[in-house]
Amino acid sequence: MSIHGKICIVTGAASGIGLAIAKLYVTNGAKVAIADLNIEAASKAAAELTAQGPGEAMGIAMDVTNEQAVNDGVAKVVETWGTVDVLVSNAGIQIVNPIENYAFSDWKKMLAIHLDGAFLTTQAVLPHMYKQKSGAIIFMGSVHSKVASPLKSAYVTAKHGLLGLARTIAKEGGAKGVRANVICPGFVRTPLVDKQIPEQAKELGISEDEVIKKVMLGETVDGEFTTVEDVAETALFFAGFPTNALTGQSLVVSHGWFAE
Ligand code: NAD
Repeated sequence: MSIHGKICIVTGAASGIGLAIAKLYVTNGAKVAIADLNIEAASKAAAELTAQGPGEAMGIAMDVTNEQAVNDGVAKVVETWGTVDVLVSNAGIQIVNPIENYAFSDWKKMLAIHLDGAFLTTQAVLPHMYKQKSGAIIFMGSVHSKVASPLKSAYVTAKHGLLGLARTIAKEGGAKGVRANVICPGFVRTPLVDKQIPEQAKELGISEDEVIKKVMLGETVDGEFTTVEDVAETALFFAGFPTNALTGQSLVVSHGWFAE
């Protein structure tokens, strides 16, 4: 199924993986709301993607942890384009620290962005999807939805949690035409990853090169980073999949780091 003409919201799409998804969706003729904390970058990206076409994009200011901001952002999309067909809940951050040093405030911030954000955006789009009896919800999980790594207690917990939320949406939404899936990328070279290379090197007492080669890519089959384009192609696949056959499933995109 094509996503041509479909109305999509991608959170955290001013940068990295979300931006690549927005770009590929617009290339495939979709209308894409680039919902991000950083409205300046979101608006700039939207203007560039609209100029490229054939779809179009608009920037939406949204803090995914804020219920009012999420509801207002989704309302703006519906007001402008009429409905929502696809939600990609992608906004995320990373904070690394061993558990004994992990500030409770950081823990809560991580769960809020990754889990509250997924819940609130889902809750805001579902009535529109149920009304039209179709919709696709895609969560940006991680290989850390399946495995753990040191220093990432909150991230691993949140990313595992997204699997449960997607499976529940799949059960509740099936009869109403709404599908839910999780994409689980390995390491992708974005600002989120660049930030943690020196942080992990310091915490683990190894060089930045060792963080990349051993910690990030050591378990891959070829020592390669997953790319934003690899993840975007997967998001296109789930958004356009024509039936409920794959609902509730997660797909790992990680150069063989983790296989199931
Ligand atoms: P990124 O830092 O390049 O982009 C994240 C975007 O999210 C930014 O534009 C930021 O402004 C936005 N954002 C942050 N907090 C927000 C909030 N509260 N509300 C709205 N927007 C907010 O990061 P990325 O690597 O592209 O990560 C995107 C997603 O992919 C995250 O959920 C991340 O956990 C996941 N992921 C990334 C990797 C990786 O290796 N980069 C691997 C697996 C999963």
